[in-house]
Amino acid sequence: MRNEPLYDEILRRNPGEPEFHQAVREVLETLDPILQARPELAEARVVERICEPERQIIFRVPWVDDAGRVQVNRGFRVEYNSALGPYKGGLRFHPSVNLGIVKFLGFEQIFKNALTGLGIGGGKGGSDFDPHGRSDAEVMRFCQSFMTELHRHLGEHTDVPAGDIGVGGREIGYLFGQYRRITNRWEAGVLTGKAPGWGGSLARPEATGYGAVLFAAEMLRVRGEDLDGQQVVVSGSGNVAIYAAEKALALGANVLTCSDSSGYVVDDKGIDVALLKQVKEVERGRVADYAERRGSSARFVADGSVWDVPADVALPCATQNELDEAAAAVLVRGGVKAVSEGANMPTTPEGVRVLTEAGVAFGPGKAANAGGVATSALEMRQNAARTVWTFAEVEEALTDIMRDIHTTCHETAERYGAPGDYVRGANIAGFERVADAMLAQGLI
Ligand code: NDP
Repeated sequence: MRNEPLYDEILRRNPGEPEFHQAVREVLETLDPILQARPELAEARVVERICEPERQIIFRVPWVDDAGRVQVNRGFRVEYNSALGPYKGGLRFHPSVNLGIVKFLGFEQIFKNALTGLGIGGGKGGSDFDPHGRSDAEVMRFCQSFMTELHRHLGEHTDVPAGDIGVGGREIGYLFGQYRRITNRWEAGVLTGKAPGWGGSLARPEATGYGAVLFAAEMLRVRGEDLDGQQVVVSGSGNVAIYAAEKALALGANVLTCSDSSGYVVDDKGIDVALLKQVKEVERGRVADYAERRGSSARFVADGSVWDVPADVALPCATQNELDEAAAAVLVRGGVKAVSEGANMPTTPEGVRVLTEAGVAFGPGKAANAGGVATSALEMRQNAARTVWTFAEVEEALTDIMRDIHTTCHETAERYGAPGDYVRGANIAGFERVADAMLAQGLI
């Protein structure tokens, strides 16, 4: 890899951030062909610049819990690259959040957003706050404190956050309310993932999961197949997982599993998405509760993982590094044909190698889960025009965007001598669009 010295420098300057190192390495490893073809990019040190965030914000988030105790969390926003538009990317609330996690997600977001073909830069943020087990009032007080600091860095033309792990419609509502109160502005386009009725886009909750399934369908189509009748395993049971399962079912597949951090569920009759939504979204329960309510067809397994269940298609939709080398080998033995990443970087580099060497079609997150942020950009478009599209209009636009992303990745991989390699195709195509904008805009 031509960028080995740069990678060593990144390791030295960003210690203790393994997920960030992993995300950077995966991109750098694929860029040699384009840097060879376009020496002006190396001369302008575009890769060095792209790896360094434009701005990193870390702040204290003090709040009071229901027992009257003071709690202190840490907030982050990494404004990574704005060559293509305002910083855009979600907020994650999870105890594992630290600067390295936010940087990995922000770095991925640059290329993902570029692949959508829309005018959005890359950023990401969040906090080590854990919403599990917290009351609505506690979540509200936390969100208000978080936004009290973050608001000064946001704006519909500056930085536009959305949801991610632990941040759904409830949190976006509280965050938007505090932004509006502090700024005295109705600035709908400052956050996406809002509820329909006050600026949200229809089909935004569905978009990431639907998009990951549409990407899987495109990969299968190239191989002369479709999703009809295929057995699908899904990990996670949050926003992305639920709507991935819903779309897979709509396209005729049978969805066998879902999971959370306490274990997984196998449902011989196929996951009942309406029941899963009720348990997870309304009651804020666990997948074990789903199994209990579903009856004899479903069982909860506390050990092991969904990847132990043989399937044709795998959709990792929970979190980073959840599908490792051993799990990939099990999937291959079970006859998996396609893996489409609904989550960000859920497959380890060794896992990707096992899958691709076995000839499995592998859709990396920055392409396969880009439907979420693309639909966020459509939400911003509706906000700017003060209009509301129908569900069907948004879904049609999402379907076209996912098709285009697939075509871009596929054709770019072919052009650079790696047919069928969606990782290379996504990285090069995303990089080239951002790099061209950076080159044109001078040394900033
Ligand atoms: P949610 O919070 O709605 O759901 C997350 C799910 O993953 C839950 O089932 C959760 O289980 C599980 N999970 C989270 N962390 C872990 C962990 N460390 N170990 C095991 N299970 C875990 O998040 P989303 O569905 O929004 O996000 C899922 C993934 O998709 C993330 O990687 C996110 O970055 C990515 N993504 C999301 C987008 C969106 O639009 N929401 C857009 C693009 C990507 P538990 O409740 O037990 O923690």
